[in-house]
Amino acid sequence: MERLPEILNAFEQALELERELGTRTVDCDRALLAPVSAATSAAAPALGQRASRPLPTATSTGGALGERALPDGGRGATALPQDGLPTAEELAVCTRCDLHGLGRTHVVPGQGNADSPDFMFVGEAPGADEDRQGLAFVGAAGQFLTKMIAAMGYTRDQVFIANICKCRPPNNRTPSPPEMAACVPYLKRQIALVRPKCLILLGNTAMRGLFPDAFVRRGQWQTYEGIPAIGTFHPAYILRFDSARDPAGLRKAKLEVWDTLKLALARLGKKPPEIKKKGQTT
Ligand code: URA
Repeated sequence: MERLPEILNAFEQALELERELGTRTVDCDRALLAPVSAATSAAAPALGQRASRPLPTATSTGGALGERALPDGGRGATALPQDGLPTAEELAVCTRCDLHGLGRTHVVPGQGNADSPDFMFVGEAPGADEDRQGLAFVGAAGQFLTKMIAAMGYTRDQVFIANICKCRPPNNRTPSPPEMAACVPYLKRQIALVRPKCLILLGNTAMRGLFPDAFVRRGQWQTYEGIPAIGTFHPAYILRFDSARDPAGLRKAKLEVWDTLKLALARLGKKPPEIKKKGQTT
């Protein structure tokens, strides 16, 4: 009984995944439902041995991406409203995973150009700086991301920046699979509404979060809901070479990232801006 909330949580995540994959009904063995029916006096369909229960319908704003709450397993999980970009107010009351109670200060919805920008960058989860300010990628990794964006010929305001998880995991640990699964519907809603032309996934968590069932390699194109998506190193990973005083590793990793960013630009028929030489004015 102690593990019941955990089991119900896992069950809920599995249902969420099924719904995202397009499943609209689940088959239930009537024998298994009998104790529940007896306890709740809920009448099970009288026809046949197996009953078909409809899953909650997808919403008009997001199609399969739109979200409604599935049964919360008694945890009081918050529903995901259908409309609009997830706001700090909406996320602040979210209890879909445990991160809300594990020391976060601010939720971090993500920010930037929400009107079909060329690029949307997706990271892992807020770190300490992001948690303090409620903004994505504003710490050291964020500064590196800003340089990547500038090298592509954009400003941060021209792209959208978000994360798989909207709350900071304690000690910046990697979010757990249930935390990612609980939070990723918010990102999916953002993608559905922002409609970026290209998704750039920063690091393994971003790649796994959006493509949980595929083996996604860095630098290889995927398609997410019709949007081209490509993965590369997380900026924090690059910075590690710097702190480890490994210039060769740093150079190699930076070159790989740059190759991927150029691929992303090329996908939209663009090139990186020319680098001005010292003293050159035009
Ligand atoms: N790392 C991330 O993945 N996201 C942030 O917002 C900051 C650091």
